[in-house]
Amino acid sequence: MKPEPAKLTVKIITLFPEMFPGHLGLSLSGKALEKRIWSLETVNPRYYTTDVHKTVDDSPFGGGAGMVMKPDILDRSLQAHLPLGRFIYMTPRGKPLTQAKAIELSQEPLLTILCGRYEGVDERLLEAYQAEEISIGDYVLSGGEQAAMILLDTVIRLLPDVIGNAGTHDEESFGNGLLEYPHYTRPAEWTGPDGILRKVPEILSSGHHAKVKDWRLEQSKAVTKERRPDLWSAYVVQNPENSKKTK
Ligand code: SAM
Repeated sequence: MKPEPAKLTVKIITLFPEMFPGHLGLSLSGKALEKRIWSLETVNPRYYTTDVHKTVDDSPFGGGAGMVMKPDILDRSLQAHLPLGRFIYMTPRGKPLTQAKAIELSQEPLLTILCGRYEGVDERLLEAYQAEEISIGDYVLSGGEQAAMILLDTVIRLLPDVIGNAGTHDEESFGNGLLEYPHYTRPAEWTGPDGILRKVPEILSSGHHAKVKDWRLEQSKAVTKERRPDLWSAYVVQNPENSKKTK
């Protein structure tokens, strides 16, 4: 009998296939990989070179530092692995990765992720394949592999049956446009290295679910307002009843 197809198939175009699955082979994503909730295929462009040196890069037209990944070699690598599904290029020039984007990508059956190295990829390849360019933050990594793993980690944990309690996602940071409230567990009283005795907020042991919910929402609002004015402003637009509380 043919095995059931994975809910998500991922193809990674990388000069360092040995980096995969990396941390994605552990914990939640690792178990999901074992259960074939998602599957992984790596493609090394070096395999599609034709010269003895297995050249995948060349110097940039117009001069300047570094090397650029060649479009012809990447094209051959991609053509040998069609279909591509949603084609993504990890790059600091891309749109920032958000939870909303992760949710969107978790609905796709097939993702192909191109990991850049050197100064990046010839622009014509990105144009020709209408690559969706995604950044994981305003800093520069030496390669797209770790960026791809971060993107995949966010996506895989959203797939059905990866996390036991599906409701978890709604209450997490960004689920409702706010950062998450603080968490506490036993012991109820704990003295830290600063010698201060800290107690868990009483409301959390009250057994009063509605009050706990309200308290958590207020905590979420407070932390978002303090740490992420950008998110808070967007939240107030969606929930104008909060606007009187903004100064
Ligand atoms: N010259 C590029 C620039 O300034 O935008 C940076 C190239 S970087 C050294 C090499 C590769 O790492 C990129 O092609 C990209 O695939 C990956 N990369 C680096 N930073 C990234 C980020 N913040 N998000 C996603 N991918 C990134």
